[in-house]
This record gives sequence, structure tokens and C-alpha cells, in this order.
Amino acid sequence: MASLQGRHALVTGGGRGIGRAIAAALTQAGAVVTIAGRNDKALAEVVGQGEAAGHVVADVTDSKAVDGGVRQAVAARGPIDFLVANAGTAKGAPFPKTTPDMYRDMFAVHVLGMLHPVQAVIGGMTERGFGRIVAIASIAGLKGYANMAPYSTAKHAMVGLVRSIALETAGSGVTVNAVCPGYVDTDLIGGAIDRMIAKGMSREAALAHFTSDVPAGRLTRPEEVAEAVVYLCSPNAAAVTGSTLVIGAEGP
Ligand code: NDP
Repeated sequence: MASLQGRHALVTGGGRGIGRAIAAALTQAGAVVTIAGRNDKALAEVVGQGEAAGHVVADVTDSKAVDGGVRQAVAARGPIDFLVANAGTAKGAPFPKTTPDMYRDMFAVHVLGMLHPVQAVIGGMTERGFGRIVAIASIAGLKGYANMAPYSTAKHAMVGLVRSIALETAGSGVTVNAVCPGYVDTDLIGGAIDRMIAKGMSREAALAHFTSDVPAGRLTRPEEVAEAVVYLCSPNAAAVTGSTLVIGAEGP
């Protein structure tokens, strides 16, 4: 297990799902973790379970709220060494039914939702000559996903942002990478399965929709994504930047 002793990590969307697993894994590896999200109660519960050291309430689509949350986290636990831009939601529909608002919403949460915390921490990271930025993108950020154009478009943009910032920070001690999971067993996929069942599909058929192309034959576990983040934050990953680490199978 990598030792991240004493490093301060900020994880957006840390109240549940993948973000919660990332917070727990970073804490386990010795980091001091602040989680951010919109739901004060859910975040406090994660802190109460010892999976994070503290929390701030901030909607990642709101730059002022993010700046305030980062200031609060820094005042409480010191400068941010690791930023994990994880907060997100999924929206999709067959392309003819997609609306500009769907794209705006997806860009707000995934692209601006990554940009705002990065802008709040990157100056300090480059000044100190150390930082790790990890964006939780998706395999949908590397290839097209049918019926998920707004989500897939925004995730591609996230990957573009990661690659561009990585070029500008190269050699500064700051690395910027994306973790690109396939389907992960969280509320996000659970909700999609429930909607398919409500439309008349069996639970087995709905689950098979997400797992049939996956060599492991199952949904990825949040903890498996979290391990990739711990690796990218570890001293051994100092030379890895601008990369997209697929957790699952990218496929054709
Ligand atoms: P969940 O729905 O389980 O959790 C999403 C988290 O993001 C919650 O903590 C939620 O907090 C937070 N969040 C959402 N919108 C905002 C916002 N505007 N401001 C602050 N926090 C917000 O999803 P997952 O854990 O599955 O997803 C996490 C990330 O992983 C997302 O970016 C998603 O796109 C990505 N991903 C997920 C995959 C999957 O199959 N599950 C696959 C590939 C990538 P709250 O609502 O309480 O504020």
C-alpha cells in the first residue's frame, strides 16, 4: 500500500459512490481527506465513519462555492496536495431526443465541475512544486456511447482538459491524469437499471446490458477505481501525466 502520509486530498462528490471509495482508500493510505459535495448530511456521515477527515459543502458547477470550499478546506487542513475531480451525474437519450440543455448540464458538472476546483488549487500546487490532479472521466470519454451523447461529449472534453493541463504543468512537479472507468456499481448505474426495469425489462436483462461486453462479466467495484487513484497520487506515479487509465475494458 502506497504511503500518502500527511498529504491533503480534496475529493469532489465524496459523499457516496466512487468518490466515497476514493476518500476511504486515500485515508487508508495515510492522506488527510476533505470531501466536497452538495449534501451536508451524507458528507458528515462519511466523515463520521472515519473515511474522511472533514467536509465542505459546494456545488462544483458554482465557481464561488468551490473557491469558498477550497479556502475552508485549506484553513482547516492545509494546502491541497491531491485533487480528485469526481463529482458527476449522467444524462442521455437517443440523439434526436437530446436537447442543448442536456449538453449544458453535462458540461456544467463534468467540465466546469473539474475546471473550478483545478483553478482553485493549481496555482498553489505549481508554487510548491508538487501536486496530483486526478479526474474521474469515463470510458465514455474515450469512445462514443450510444444514447449517451451529452454525457460522452462532456467526458471527452474532460479528457481534453486533462491532456492540455498536463502539457502546461509538465516538469513542474504537478501531474494531471484521468481515470476512465467502465460501468461501476453505484447509484448512478443502479438508477439506470431501475429505469430500465420500470420500462418492462427484467433485472437480469438490465444488468446484462451493462456487463455483456465486459471481460470480467460484472460491474466494476468503486474500490477498484479508488485503487487507481491511490496509485496516481503515489510517489511511484511521479512520471505519469496526461494519461488515461482505463478501469474495465475499452473495447472497440
Ligand atoms: P454517484 O451518483 O454514486 O455519486 C455522484 C457524486 O457526485 C455524489 O457524491 C454527488 O453528490 C456528487 N455530485 C453530483 N453533482 C454534483 C455537483 N453539482 N456538485 C457537487 N457534487 C456533485 O455516481 P458515481 O460514484 O457512479 O460517479 C462518480 C463519477 O464517476 C462521475 O463523474 C461519473 O460520471 C464517473 N463515472 C461513473 C461510472 C459508473 O458506471 N458509475 C463510470 C465511469 C465514470 P450529491 O448529489 O450528494 O451532491
